[in-house]
Amino acid sequence: MAYKNKDWLQDQYWNKNRSSIKIASEFSLTPQAIRYWLRKFGIPRRGDSTFKGDKAKSHTIHAWLRNKYPPPEECQDCGKIKPRLYLANLKNHKYTRNIEDYKYLCFDCHQKLDGYPIKPYRFKKGKENISNIDHWRNRGK
Ligand SMILES: [Zn+2]
Repeated sequence: MAYKNKDWLQDQYWNKNRSSIKIASEFSLTPQAIRYWLRKFGIPRRGDSTFKGDKAKSHTIHAWLRNKYPPPEECQDCGKIKPRLYLANLKNHKYTRNIEDYKYLCFDCHQKLDGYPIKPYRFKKGKENISNIDHWRNRGK
């Protein structure tokens, strides 16, 4: 199985920034099983402060996207107005800079899409660029 290959697993987890939950679901495994292999191969887990390379990369891209395309007030799936929206990657965690590959979702919708929320975004009223919000509101109408 692919996940028993160190290079593959490291690439999925770090370069492609996929979670152990995501990888596990591909093989109908529990996330614990993937974490076992990560540990066995000595692959550092995210949140490990000694290893930040690609995590920093995805943070940079998320920050760039949020700056360029500020979130709307409402979840783009269920339409509920939420104080906090999560930037969801729709392309299997390939961190592109194409906003069409992302959606701002509430906690519930993000969980449905991705299994768990990765990037919390606190909506700060009055700090957003109105034309960008209009851009978002008018999307898909
Ligand atoms: Zn929602």
